[in-house]
Amino acid sequence: MVRITDVREITKPISSPIRNAYIDFTKMTTSLVAVVTDAKVDGRAVVGYGFNSNGRYGQGGLIRERFAPRLLEADPKNLLNDAGENLDPHRAWGAMMQNEKPGGHGERSVAVGTLDMAIWDATAKIARKPLFRLLAERHGVTANSKVFVYAAGGYYYPGKDLQALRKEMRSYLDRGYSVVKMKIGGADLTEDRRRIEAVLDEIGKDAQLAVDANGRFDLETAIAYAKMLRDYPLFWYEEAGDPLDYALQAALAEFYPGPMATGENLFSHQDARNLLRYGGMRPDRDWLQFDCALSYGLCEYERTLQELKIAGWSSSRCIPHGGHQMSLNIAAGLGLGGNESYPDLFQPYGGFPDGVKVENSIITMPELPGIGFEGKTDLIKVMHELAQ
Ligand code: MG
Repeated sequence: MVRITDVREITKPISSPIRNAYIDFTKMTTSLVAVVTDAKVDGRAVVGYGFNSNGRYGQGGLIRERFAPRLLEADPKNLLNDAGENLDPHRAWGAMMQNEKPGGHGERSVAVGTLDMAIWDATAKIARKPLFRLLAERHGVTANSKVFVYAAGGYYYPGKDLQALRKEMRSYLDRGYSVVKMKIGGADLTEDRRRIEAVLDEIGKDAQLAVDANGRFDLETAIAYAKMLRDYPLFWYEEAGDPLDYALQAALAEFYPGPMATGENLFSHQDARNLLRYGGMRPDRDWLQFDCALSYGLCEYERTLQELKIAGWSSSRCIPHGGHQMSLNIAAGLGLGGNESYPDLFQPYGGFPDGVKVENSIITMPELPGIGFEGKTDLIKVMHELAQ
């Protein structure tokens, strides 16, 4: 019988001097977790690893006080699948969420999402399969190992001028990306227009540009930007207003006919459902960016995808926030539209296994067991320092 024998957490810095319209990343951290099992593959105990994406802080307190103890105190039988030969991530999720009231998702969803990532990693490793193949099998669908990725950057940075911004975007094109993203809303509209025009001039017909306001705008400003942005052929206009202001998002559709994107700061399937019910998002052109690592993990993401289906949305409209391999696996396994990528940021956590190349903004998933962390040398090194 497989047992979880230990759960370890360490809070690590992922700081950088960048800033978006809302926060700077000088004190940003992430929780790195290891879920140690007594299952043996090739004579070694299987360890699953997870971390909490970026943009929310490490969750060591919650993990150590509530969620890790619940996993370790559960009857091991109750964490297994029916056949009893592997973990059941949904049963583990249920054990973690015992005695948690509904609503108020806050930071709890980040703590659970981090552990959920490690549990799925362990489960796929015990099954000796890449997670995306395991997921496709479980859902009775065909995996597609080719995943669209776009390069997110264009942050505000001390001393960064238009020349530096153009150079950054050019470097993403040189690395195989044909969609790039930049921040807006951290300067005034006139300056942001200059920044956008500089980037569009730089990338020309070689790529498309998305812009991201990080939830900064009130309705008036969001509309003023919509009127400016709609003059340009943008890939999308992201997170204009507060993530929970569905009325603002709905009103914006009247002023912005092009694609919009949001959802990275919605942390539950109930919040996602509210966005679909009340946010005026358009299933034929808009994009949904829920990040499983911040929002209770893949178990919850499966429930979110179910809500999409009920609301008449295709999973191919999802391009998650975060740039981590967990979402790459979900994209390849469950037919998402792609995944974010930060070519120059949040290392060693983000990015791809060694040797994976971006070509025309597409990567091919390697056939690595679990999430594939073992294929990324700099990442697995810090993971092994926590548990091996
Ligand atoms: Mg964003």
